[in-house]
Amino acid sequence: MKVVRTVAGLRKALAPHRRRGRSIGFVPTMGALHAGHAALVARAARETDVVVASVFVNPLQFGPKEDFAGYPRTFARDLRLLRRAGADVVFAPAVAEMYRPDADTTVDQTRLVRPLCGPFRPGHFRGVQTVVAKLFNRVQPDAAFFGLKDYQQVRVIERMARDLDWPIRIVRCPTVREPDGLALSSRNAYLSSDQRRQALGLVAALRRGRKMIRAGERRAVRIAAAMRTEILARSPGARIDYAAVADPVTLEPVKRIRGRTLLALAVRIGKTRLIDNAVVSP
Ligand code: AMP
Repeated sequence: MKVVRTVAGLRKALAPHRRRGRSIGFVPTMGALHAGHAALVARAARETDVVVASVFVNPLQFGPKEDFAGYPRTFARDLRLLRRAGADVVFAPAVAEMYRPDADTTVDQTRLVRPLCGPFRPGHFRGVQTVVAKLFNRVQPDAAFFGLKDYQQVRVIERMARDLDWPIRIVRCPTVREPDGLALSSRNAYLSSDQRRQALGLVAALRRGRKMIRAGERRAVRIAAAMRTEILARSPGARIDYAAVADPVTLEPVKRIRGRTLLALAVRIGKTRLIDNAVVSP
């Protein structure tokens, strides 16, 4: 596994593979890696010849009051995990390698970024799209692998790739969870053991929502209210950014369940913001 810090290094590491016509898979990450990231890399290794993973904590996608400075950085561990999972090249640029000081061009869209996390993280998806666009240009992968834990992000990237004509297959990968159901997240490291227990409210809420839909409930308000109740039962101090019942394609809220439905949650427990979601078929 090669570790490169610069665009020139990346180009050099990939050149022999491109010459031989090997397919390139790409897994962008912000480091602090866990089994969820490893699953994306392993999937990429199964589906493509050469796997590039990036490790870059992207300042552009953090709000001014968010955790950019404190975001966990565990690079030595990350490299061990990436090697075991089957990465061939790790691209870990410094901020200055990614952004010129006077960079002024960003990538954004209007519709998919508006619901769910949109109002709570202004500019977040613009930062994500801009960095992923730049990484796509630099890696030029055949396929890129994203986790469904960040459902809105996957939708935004799918549409960006389509609208801007990147010939890159965007692969959705299932959410990897702890045995008790908690979605793996780098931010779980912020939770105390008590908060870790409270976080299971998100899992309970999604289970409850799924059960209600399967039992025939069609009113979204009822489902959203029940999900809130489940969260607050385990974590009375939680601040719920949203407990949404939405269309899995447009991400817009639905009033009545008609087909496949996205249940999506964003909850603050203490200072830690957790998200999770499930797509349910009636
Ligand atoms: P991050 O480094 O957390 O920004 O995430 C990098 C990639 O890993 C994104 O595509 C995430 O959706 C994905 N990811 C994060 N957590 C999980 C998880 N628990 N299961 C599957 N994919 C995940």
